[in-house]
Amino acid sequence: MKAKLLKTLIISCGGIFAGWLPLIAMGGQTDISNPRIWPAPDHTRLVFDLSDTVSHKVFALENPDRLVIDIEDSQLKSGVESMSLAGSPVKNMRSARRNGDDVRIVLDLHRKLTARSFVLKPNDQYGTRLVVDLLEDEAKEEPVVRKSANEHQDKRDVVIVIDAGHGGDDPGAIGPGGVKEKDVVMAIAKELQAQMNDTPGYTVKFTRTSDYYIGLRQRTKLARKYNADLLVSIHADAFNRPEANGASVFALSKRGATSESARWLVASENRADLIGGVGGVSLDDKDDVLAGVLLDLSMTASMKASLGVGDHVLRSMGQVSKLHKKRVEQAGFVVLKSPDIPSILIETGFISNPVEARRLSSRAYQRKVASAIKVGLTRHFEETPPVGTWLAWKRDGGGATSSELSYTIRKGDTLSSIARRNRVTVSQLIESNDLKSDSLRVGQVLAIPTS
Ligand SMILES: [Zn+2]
Repeated sequence: MKAKLLKTLIISCGGIFAGWLPLIAMGGQTDISNPRIWPAPDHTRLVFDLSDTVSHKVFALENPDRLVIDIEDSQLKSGVESMSLAGSPVKNMRSARRNGDDVRIVLDLHRKLTARSFVLKPNDQYGTRLVVDLLEDEAKEEPVVRKSANEHQDKRDVVIVIDAGHGGDDPGAIGPGGVKEKDVVMAIAKELQAQMNDTPGYTVKFTRTSDYYIGLRQRTKLARKYNADLLVSIHADAFNRPEANGASVFALSKRGATSESARWLVASENRADLIGGVGGVSLDDKDDVLAGVLLDLSMTASMKASLGVGDHVLRSMGQVSKLHKKRVEQAGFVVLKSPDIPSILIETGFISNPVEARRLSSRAYQRKVASAIKVGLTRHFEETPPVGTWLAWKRDGGGATSSELSYTIRKGDTLSSIARRNRVTVSQLIESNDLKSDSLRVGQVLAIPTS
């Protein structure tokens, strides 16, 4: 706005200033730079850095499907034409000047999408940003259904949802040498997933599966969608003193739980969801007092379970890392606030500490950390397996009398898929069948060990 006014003034002053007019006009315009794109399963986020806040407008055009971003009084400092759009719903991007002062960016789309856009205020990590989210059709999203135990024919797996913190345009903490928290925690998450998948009785899901951002509430929603028995959020944050070091484990604080219960009671869309996991109850038809009591019971049980599993993980982490605190800490982190899903947040170390940053970015150490987390998780679930799970059945002596089973190989089978289905490890399969390699042929019969 200011720039325009200035320019009008200068023009009205006549020809004398004509020589330096473009310079002044440009100086007042907002710079748009560093475009980047983060494709996620349900949306794609496009981000631009801005030198100042802007007025902008986003609208869709059809035949062919396009999205137009008009940004007033601005100039594009870096081209959008050469951006890598792989994995995104955007076919092509181009830009042009409009009305002399404005920038128009056009996105050619593979399919029709709706858009949402906003300007983000600067924070300690970033300046002003323009964010354009391209949203996939919501109809695709599956409704949240919590199954009760007797709906499962089989004894089910314990479901662990791993939440790699941050992602996309939110790098998390940045350590010496530019190592980013979002990358370190994703590497640990993937390693943990691989190790859990080798452990019979567990199914692992991710909140984010690659480098994109999802909101904290969305992370807890995904845990509900997957009927999680546990949400494990993995971080490696910074501290303002570089000498701070060591791992920590967090569970929800009492105060965080209380405020969340209150929030659930007023949010009617939450009330329709079932509380309490297995055989859950709906709050929909309960009065406020009863709903409050049920929520508190559920919150208390979840917090107790979170502290229990957190304690196992902390002790096991203590074998590979210094501990920041000797006990599970409690805080009001949003990602821990599911009333009916035990949730822990693991700070694997301080990325701001040069020694820890180096360790955390090494593959070998990431593997060690993942293994320590796995030991903590499996100890907890062996001790207190959720009702209806294969682990509970096994603890109670299930399968002790069954004779050896066999399986005939079909097309597409792999040793690890057979191992997972039968809840044995690949190495047990190899051993009991005396296999020399992991290649299988259709029709081959494998003995399934039943110890
Ligand atoms: Zn973090």
